[in-house]
Amino acid sequence: MHPYELIEKKQHGKSLSNEEVRFLIRGFTDGSIPDYQMSALLMAVYFQGFDNGETGALVDAMLYSGETIDLSDISGYKVDKHSTGGVGDKVSLILAPLVAAAGVKVPMISGRGLGHTGGTLDKLESIPGFSTEYTVNSFHQQVEDLGVCIMSQSKKIVPADKKMYALRDVTSTVRSIPLICASIMSKKIAEGIDGLVLDVKTGRGAFIAEYEQSRELATRLVEIGHQFDLDCTAVITDMNQPLGYRIGNWNEVLESVECLQGNGPKDLMAVTLELSAHMLKLAGKTDSIDPAREILQKLIDSGEALDLFYRFVDAQEGDVSSVQNPNDYPQSIFFREVRASKSGIIQAIDSYCLGMTSVRLGAGRQQMADVIDPKAGITLHKKVGDSVESNEIIAQFFTDDESVLDEAEQRIKTSFTIGDEEVKSQILIHEIIE
Ligand code: URA
Repeated sequence: MHPYELIEKKQHGKSLSNEEVRFLIRGFTDGSIPDYQMSALLMAVYFQGFDNGETGALVDAMLYSGETIDLSDISGYKVDKHSTGGVGDKVSLILAPLVAAAGVKVPMISGRGLGHTGGTLDKLESIPGFSTEYTVNSFHQQVEDLGVCIMSQSKKIVPADKKMYALRDVTSTVRSIPLICASIMSKKIAEGIDGLVLDVKTGRGAFIAEYEQSRELATRLVEIGHQFDLDCTAVITDMNQPLGYRIGNWNEVLESVECLQGNGPKDLMAVTLELSAHMLKLAGKTDSIDPAREILQKLIDSGEALDLFYRFVDAQEGDVSSVQNPNDYPQSIFFREVRASKSGIIQAIDSYCLGMTSVRLGAGRQQMADVIDPKAGITLHKKVGDSVESNEIIAQFFTDDESVLDEAEQRIKTSFTIGDEEVKSQILIHEIIE
């Protein structure tokens, strides 16, 4: 087999066999297939797709590119949540300690920023000292002792996703249902969980923007989960505007802490509680969603979820005092306000454009070797449906890169559509697929 011939085969829309998929993933993981050939293959898959057989083979090849984790000796149900990616989506930071505070074990292998979206690992690593590098044994130990651990893919655990994820991030090959399915499900199956809640984002800021395609993605993810004996629920949630007000790594940690303190924005809290409640239901804590939501709200009100968040930061070597005293955190060199060009009502906010602007500010990677600026980001002052006066502040942004200031201001300004019509309240939770 030769990578060149397999790229050509896929370019012409032909199906690859299980052996061919395995050969490509094994070669890419061990370095014998270079990034440039894998990039070409990813682009061919992006345009030609993978059928269900090829996608299954890809999940399998990526999953067994490394070791899998066995948590079966830890008592109780183990459940995780994974999002297909959005802008301002910091749900995992709030949900993981919250669900663990409810007595359900939450083992998580997460990802970094991808395309225009931020990643859980980059957000957590904006906390000084925070480590997401774990061995299988230390991951196991922390899940057992604390009830929650968030780690990165590694050279040992789903190494194929670690490499492929970084390549997709900078080659604009994320928006592909089979590639998203294989990336997510290989990580999740490797974790040794019993159940999984999938947050499938739909709308302008999602990788898969069209509703019917988001539905197809949700259905495929759940089907793959079932093939690997995982209990799975997919929740299709809205990503037509950023979730919450804050975008950028440290900025999103701040908003996550506000949520755990009981002061979170409504949309972010609604999505977090919905997904967390489905996790409790899968774990058998409740028969339905409403009582689960009540349990979770009480854990926030009592401060137990926040306390577990602090213990989780400490266990992962993060500096707890930095999240408790955020004013001591370093500030960006440059800061600008963005003002409304006219009075009216915010009709729409282009979350994709804000996500890409946040990357330009330094919060994401434009090339694989780029180093994230944890401080860079955007804070919205207005959301869809809010009234605004001409010249009122609609957003602020911060960066260390002077060269992007004017462009960022312009892009953020044009991300807001201001008009005269009243805006109906936004649907956040579209559909549940079980
Ligand atoms: N999250 C992942 O882990 N992988 C994707 O491809 C998209 C979102």
